[in-house]
Amino acid sequence: MNEYDVLERYIHESNYIVALTGAGISTAAGIPDFRGEKGIYTLGIVPERVFDIDYFLRDPRPFYEFTRRMIETLEGSGPTLMHRFLAYLEEIGKLKLLVTQNIDGLHTLAGSKNVIEIHGSYRRSFCLNCGKEYDFSEVKEMILKNTVPYCSCGGLIKPDVVFFGEGVKGFEEARQHAYLSDLFLVVGSSLQVQPASLLPYFSPGKVVIINKGPVAFPRSRIDVHIDEDCELVAEELMRRLKK
Ligand SMILES: [Zn+2]
Repeated sequence: MNEYDVLERYIHESNYIVALTGAGISTAAGIPDFRGEKGIYTLGIVPERVFDIDYFLRDPRPFYEFTRRMIETLEGSGPTLMHRFLAYLEEIGKLKLLVTQNIDGLHTLAGSKNVIEIHGSYRRSFCLNCGKEYDFSEVKEMILKNTVPYCSCGGLIKPDVVFFGEGVKGFEEARQHAYLSDLFLVVGSSLQVQPASLLPYFSPGKVVIINKGPVAFPRSRIDVHIDEDCELVAEELMRRLKK
C-alpha cells in the first residue's frame, strides 16, 4: 500500500475529520507564501512589518500594498482543487471543521461552511477612530483606488485580520473539535506558527500531513506524510474519492 492508499482508507474509516490549512494550499491560487522561493520576501515585502500592529499604526502602507496585491491576484484566480476537495469532504459529512491560517477567504469561496479563520479575514473592517464597520467590497474599492482606506471621519480602517501581537480567533472551539477528531489533516502548513500549530497535538486520531517539505511536528506522531504539492495530492484524492 502506498501513502495514498493509506489516506484513502483513513478517510473511509473516519467520521470526524478536522483539517488545518496554511499558505501552501493557496500558492496555486497565486497567493504568496511567507516562506519558500515564491515567498513574499522576494516581493520586497517584510512580513514583520506587514503584519505588525505597532508598525501598521505608524505606517499602514506595507500592509495595504500587500493587500492590494492579494486582491489583484484573487481577481484572476479562485479556490484551488485542494480547497474544493476539502469542501467536498464536508459536503459528504466526513469533515466537521476546517481551521485555516489563511486570510484569503478561499475556503468560503470554495463552498466550505464550518470554517474557523484563526488569523481573521477581510470580510469586515473597522475604523480605528469611530468604530464604524465596513464590508469588504467598500474597503476593496478604497484600497484599489488609494491603497490605504480611511473612514469618513478621517480614521484609519483596519480589517478583522489578526496581526502579530494580537490574539487569534476561535482557538478554543478549534481545540474542542480537534479533541473529537479521528483524523486530523494538516494541509499546506509546515506548522511553524503557534498556536494553530498546536492543534494536531490535541487529536486522539490519525495525523496526516499533506505538505511539500518538512513540518515542525514529531515524526512519531505522524501516521502519513505526503510530501507533495497540494494540487497534485488533491487531484489524486479527487480521482480516488469523488466517484
Ligand atoms: Zn471613523
